Amino acid sequence: MKKRILLKALGDRESFNALDNAFEQFNRAAKILELTEDQIAMIMEPRRIIEVQLPIRMDDGHVKLFKGFRAQHSMIRGPAKGGVRFHQDVSVDEVKALAFWMTYKCAVVNIPMGGAKGGIIVDPNELSDSELERLARRYFSELIDVFGPDTDVPAPDVNTNPQIMAWFMDTYSMHKRQYLPAVVTGKPKALGGSQGRGTATAMGMVHCVRNAAEHFDLDMKNLTVAVQGYGNAGSWAAKLLHDDGCTIRAISDISGAYISKDGIDPQLAIDFVRRNKKLAGFEKEKGIKKLTDPMALLELPVDVLIPAALENQISNSNSPRVQAKIIAECANGPVTPKADDILTENGVFVIPDILCNAGGVTVSYLEWVQNRMGYYWSKERIADNLKEIMDNAFATVLQTSLEKKVTMRTAAFIVAIDRVAEAAELRGLYS
Ligand code: GLU
Repeated sequence: MKKRILLKALGDRESFNALDNAFEQFNRAAKILELTEDQIAMIMEPRRIIEVQLPIRMDDGHVKLFKGFRAQHSMIRGPAKGGVRFHQDVSVDEVKALAFWMTYKCAVVNIPMGGAKGGIIVDPNELSDSELERLARRYFSELIDVFGPDTDVPAPDVNTNPQIMAWFMDTYSMHKRQYLPAVVTGKPKALGGSQGRGTATAMGMVHCVRNAAEHFDLDMKNLTVAVQGYGNAGSWAAKLLHDDGCTIRAISDISGAYISKDGIDPQLAIDFVRRNKKLAGFEKEKGIKKLTDPMALLELPVDVLIPAALENQISNSNSPRVQAKIIAECANGPVTPKADDILTENGVFVIPDILCNAGGVTVSYLEWVQNRMGYYWSKERIADNLKEIMDNAFATVLQTSLEKKVTMRTAAFIVAIDRVAEAAELRGLYS
């Protein structure tokens, strides 16, 4: 590992706007690909962004207004695809950036879909189940002409889950007077959900970490891991890596970060969250300590660091202190471009989000295919398909990174942009 560089050397302040960061990542790859301005004009900016107002009758009878968005970044290679998040910090620029990442995520694993993302500005923990259902249904019905199996197919994201996908699917099917499960993925299995979708994001990451470990000649069984975020992706990430023999040193959620020198049993933490909604109080379990600063989790001396929460967690200020050998990005956009430069200087191997967390949308695609056939595959078949797709994508990105002497992120964008640009070129302009 190279000598750690000083933060001061890089100087100026950086942007925490996810969209600025996404475009910076794009530009780095576009420069190497020598894209023309015309090509960039056709594939960089989101194609459309829709904002909707969502008046909801609350349980106490009063009406509360929420705001929702759907950004469709690209439909060049297939229907727009991407999750819907419910979070108090959702913004137009955030959904635009997340939609942008979806386009290139689908392209890097070579599934025939474009990119989109939606969001509602809300803290879902403040809503009752019935308020949440009314909000979900109102969002979907407001955007009923935007969504569709051939146009735009949502899925779960931060704070959304299979039950919410079931309400989306039901709202759409009731409006269209047909059973139309292919309008949304990540549904419960009883409504056409796929085997393996719940674990897919984390499983895709595990395939990437296994490939990275092989590349560096590391034994999975000796790896120590810290996981930031304990939602669907983070909790399964900890559990699956633990099942593969890794030691989970630390985990965190909104309530704080928890560490154990003997290793944390992720299942114990999953059961704890199921009972208590959060990890708050987890330090009372045997051998567990709470970190005073939850952000210190990112700086622990572990082999693998897994950001599985939100954007901009590793920036120019804390990246010089990151000690992990490998960062596996389960979240979208957790590392800023300036942090990327510092991590590269320090010899940290970053498996970028558009590759590392693409397992989720990959199994979403397999779900969509099964819905359209009306025929369902076994757990084993889904697992094999996912592994094959992730292994191929990792190998292609690694080879590009070695050949062009660029980071894995820039290599992933090179592979993905090339595919999107070729499709755009072939389609030409309708004007
Ligand atoms: N929200 C997930 C992501 O960011 C999954 C999207 C999907 O399955 O469409 O990749």
